[in-house]
Amino acid sequence: MADLDFYLSDEQHELRRAVRDFTAKEIAPIAAECDASERFPTDLFPKLGKLGYLALGYPEELGGSGGSNLDYSILWEELAYGSAGIALGVYVHTAMACRALQLFGSEAIKQDWLVPALRGERIGGWAFAEAGAGSDAGTVATRAVADGDDYVLNGTKLFITNGPIADFLIVVASTNPDQGIKGLSLFLVETDRPGFRVASSLSKLGVRASEMGELVFEDCRVPASNMIGRPDRGFLDSLRMLTLGRIASAAIVSGLSRAALDATVEHAKTRVQFGQPIGNFQAVGFGIADMATQIEASRLMCHRAAIAADRGLPHSREASMAKLFATEACTKIVERALHYNGASGFMSESPIQRFYRDCKVFELGEGSSELQRNMIAREILAS
Ligand SMILES: Cc1cc2nc3c(=O)[nH]c(=O)nc-3n(C[C@H](O)[C@H](O)[C@H](O)COP(=O)(O)OP(=O)(O)OC[C@H]3O[C@@H](n4cnc5c(N)ncnc54)[C@H](O)[C@@H]3O)c2cc1C
Repeated sequence: MADLDFYLSDEQHELRRAVRDFTAKEIAPIAAECDASERFPTDLFPKLGKLGYLALGYPEELGGSGGSNLDYSILWEELAYGSAGIALGVYVHTAMACRALQLFGSEAIKQDWLVPALRGERIGGWAFAEAGAGSDAGTVATRAVADGDDYVLNGTKLFITNGPIADFLIVVASTNPDQGIKGLSLFLVETDRPGFRVASSLSKLGVRASEMGELVFEDCRVPASNMIGRPDRGFLDSLRMLTLGRIASAAIVSGLSRAALDATVEHAKTRVQFGQPIGNFQAVGFGIADMATQIEASRLMCHRAAIAADRGLPHSREASMAKLFATEACTKIVERALHYNGASGFMSESPIQRFYRDCKVFELGEGSSELQRNMIAREILAS
């Protein structure tokens, strides 16, 4: 088939080939085992760091590899092709925890934490959600109270990816409880600090190769210099980082959808019923055509939002649309994949059942579909 990604540079084609090779060698072979054991393969971090993949999009003076949001989208699609769970763990580290350090950290924090994290020598997490705070960030109850040269943190964070394996966390805590979302600050918390503990590892339906924890802060004291970004405005300032995260989510599910499509095409060509491959039946062929079409649309929307961000154009609505469309398409695509793979796709050893469990969460995380629709509608109605 002709390569119609004509807007990609030679370097971007090469990046795609290289990450595809890495995924085939280092991720695909361990994806099922990591899913079954609910363990993230932490030795991947230094490997990804050595190849510069964790540092993609970061400036060279911080050990970064340079690169654009479009490069980033290519990376996420190819990593998620091998395992959406592993991609999620890497994503939270590099696109959330490291990005927050880059955007808001002091020079000392960047040198001490970001530089080793981009080499894969430290693992990061993003600790925002709580029992009472999900879509509504204004209800974060974890408190950070100034005390001399320190802040003292108290509270419990829930559903935190990388929580059980992290060396450092970016913690969203209230420094001004009367102000809701306008009173939230960001703190770097090293996980060996007294007063911090992983209360439990949480078991999930899908993306099980990423580890998740409930995290407790009990009189956990950090120096005031560990506050990153503006007091009371840290979380609001981080929202632009979350906009780019929606583009990455669209890329991750494009990879997951493509893995489901490829496995289905293979099955449709080789599974014989009524004397012919099932792909010959129009009902199956039409389904495959729809899956492939939705993947193309997902990728194009994702890349358009990435290119707009790279060119400094407005891209918030485009990022929301890409995330909304691609994540909902992925859930439909993977459901059809399970359907056309029949009983064999339903078996524990089949990757299809893993895809089926992995896809749903992307409609919830990084702002659920409803929140994306709210943002898109608000922007359209205000114009
Ligand atoms: C696999 C996984 C990994 C995660 N990793 C992290 C992490 O690393 N760090 C972190 O901080 N958090 C993480 N989370 C938590 C994530 O941030 C929350 O799931 C997300 O913010 C949504 O919150 P909630 O699940 O409490 O759902 P809720 O906010 O309670 O929403 C429940 C339902 O209500 C709907 N709803 C809510 N508000 C509105 C509204 N205004 N209009 C219409 N519908 C609405 C939602 O769309 C959803 O369907 C993770 C969650 C999962 C499942």
